[in-house]
Amino acid sequence: MREGDPSFIPAGGALYLHVPFCSSICDFCAFDKALPSPGDWDLYRDSLSREWESVQFEGGMSSAFWGGGTPGLLKASDIRKIGAKFQEVLEPGAEWTVELTPLCPTAEKLAAWREVGVNRLSLGVQSFSPRLLEAMGRPYSTEKIPQIVEKIRSAGFRKLNIDLIIAFPGQTREELQMDLERTVSLQPDHISVYCLTLEEDTALYTRLTRSGHRPDAEEEAELYEMAWGFLEEKGYAQYEVSNFAREGSQCEHHLNVWRMGNWRGFGPSAASQLGEYRFHNPHELQRWADFVPCDKMEDYPGRQRTVGDDRVRERIVFGLRMNEGIPSQAIEALSEEGQQSLKIFLQQIENEGYLNRSGGRISLTLAGRLVADEISRWILS
Ligand code: SF4
Repeated sequence: MREGDPSFIPAGGALYLHVPFCSSICDFCAFDKALPSPGDWDLYRDSLSREWESVQFEGGMSSAFWGGGTPGLLKASDIRKIGAKFQEVLEPGAEWTVELTPLCPTAEKLAAWREVGVNRLSLGVQSFSPRLLEAMGRPYSTEKIPQIVEKIRSAGFRKLNIDLIIAFPGQTREELQMDLERTVSLQPDHISVYCLTLEEDTALYTRLTRSGHRPDAEEEAELYEMAWGFLEEKGYAQYEVSNFAREGSQCEHHLNVWRMGNWRGFGPSAASQLGEYRFHNPHELQRWADFVPCDKMEDYPGRQRTVGDDRVRERIVFGLRMNEGIPSQAIEALSEEGQQSLKIFLQQIENEGYLNRSGGRISLTLAGRLVADEISRWILS
């Protein structure tokens, strides 16, 4: 490990690729994305190549994740070229996920992903309700989704995640029930159920603010409990607040992030964590293209070195978001003062039914996972 060197990736690290283009813009989305203009793809390819060549890999990488934006928009020829670089540094059989929207998977692209070694796809369905999809600004029909899943399986992909958005403003229990039933009927091995974070610079935020919409925490909690109960019953065990998997199908890439392993991001806005440092690339294609390659940590936006109690607290927060929780002795890594205040807080939330201690581990109860964000905020404050 070369602490503070953004160009050196230790063996066993994970890789993330951000593809910043979308074919249309969803009303709720605050990610770094844009409709590509002429010349943008060339700029992206050239800059990515410069960024990649500037980095050294200490050994084999443990997983890769291509997200966005819409990595499904990459042409088959780009998938092969960029994929070959990833293939060179990934350990044999390493988990390698690509995110897709239901509009992306052509037979040609699916074949290219298989060829380079991608072994897990993540399909951003978000909802099966035409009403909600329209409200989200996602222009596709869900009728073809079973055929798309069939096509993915026929291409040889066994690992499939389906993303759903839960508690979208105005979502009814019936709509959620339909989303869950239709998702489970497709038999993915992994399901992510995300609550929408309403970001200020989105079309949806403006629309809802104008209409006077206020989120109802109680209603949201009811939808969560309903979804979590349904998925458990259908054999999808919750292993993190928003993630459910059949046995042996947890996402290795996400687990590495939550266990605070090393990961290096490539592409505009891509975040990285290497040892005690977290940093990200500049947002927006042109700014990133002007920035790379960069081997000076001090030039990276958002760089942050987290040490001492702050680092231990982060580890505890990530650990508590997972159902496995943390070993009880993890708290002992804090300073005397840090331990005292955290112990008082944990005792308090245990008394309130949010925390469970058993087998030498501390984890959140179902009620605790429903308020995991508040618990995290307190621990980090
Ligand atoms: S949600 Fe995904 S597909 Fe929609 S605009 Fe954002 S990145 Fe693009």
